[in-house]
Amino acid sequence: MAYIRGKNGDVYQPSDMVKEVWPDVSGNDVNGLGVEEKSKPVPVFWRTDGSIAHHDLLMYFYTVDQNDPRIINARKFREANKLIPISEVAETKADMSPEDMSAALKEAAQGFSADDVGITAWREEWTYSDRDQPLGPWTIVLAIDQDFDEMNKAPDLDSYVEVVRQYARAGKVAIQVANWIREQGYSAEEKTGPMSEDVIMIPAAIEAGIGELGKHGSMIHHKMGSNFRLSMVTTDMPLAPDTPKPFGADDFCASCQVCKNACPPDAIFNEKQMVRGNEKWFVDFDKCIPYFVDNQTCGICLVVCPWSRPGVADNLLTKMARRRAQAAE
Ligand code: SF4
Ligand code: SF4
Repeated sequence: MAYIRGKNGDVYQPSDMVKEVWPDVSGNDVNGLGVEEKSKPVPVFWRTDGSIAHHDLLMYFYTVDQNDPRIINARKFREANKLIPISEVAETKADMSPEDMSAALKEAAQGFSADDVGITAWREEWTYSDRDQPLGPWTIVLAIDQDFDEMNKAPDLDSYVEVVRQYARAGKVAIQVANWIREQGYSAEEKTGPMSEDVIMIPAAIEAGIGELGKHGSMIHHKMGSNFRLSMVTTDMPLAPDTPKPFGADDFCASCQVCKNACPPDAIFNEKQMVRGNEKWFVDFDKCIPYFVDNQTCGICLVVCPWSRPGVADNLLTKMARRRAQAAE
């Protein structure tokens, strides 16, 4: 099904099946595109309990290529996380300062194979409007990198399998971190994308210093580029927060159009959009998701992003730091 944009600029059109299961509701409206008032997010796609307008589309997504052995194996790999034992909360609480506790936690998370870790205070506005607030007050955001060569095949089942594999790793690390916290005498809730169902992770990840939002609507990390996935743990363990760490990605996006030009359905806006009271980069759901569903996957925008190319991020970081220094002179 994969359709790559033609040289003459022609764009992909959704299949008849996607058109048939598409609801009479715009996903952009659900996401709050054009809404100036601040409001909580409303779930739009990754939720299986029948509560979303695009439920039939999501169910159709799960039927495309469902009998392919690579997909069956990848989903089994993810399911294996359910067999990981959950630790009891220890009766005695570890006695450390929030700073020392945060340092120990980050070391433990990296030992469990997290590729980056950040901490921030959970904000009510990051919880879906129809769900309770998670355990708090703190959230630990975990970033898990993906294999560039596998992702570079997007849209292909190999790249889909890599995404499922890394979400499985992200989920496993979240369970391991939550268990570590419980063993120190505190409570913890683990959450893994994309089916975390109650929270949105990207704003928390930005506040926790993991990276910046890119024009393609995903995050850009100063080393991994856009080639990574997120999971999270919320907890009452006393921790010290990190801060956002802008490194020039937002400025870079303002003058780059690589992802926009590569997106088969032309779903990437060239300017920031007003979304639930925030002006930010945004992807047109009604264009992106039909392509994603028809191909079982996508992520082209993530791998074409210059920051994702192995060995390129360091040079871009230097370039953006130089640009900022010149602007400050
Ligand atoms: S995942 Fe990215 S490249 Fe693919 S359709 Fe969506 S916005 Fe476009
Ligand atoms: S490809 Fe360019 S515009 Fe798109 S997210 Fe990456 S840096 Fe930003």
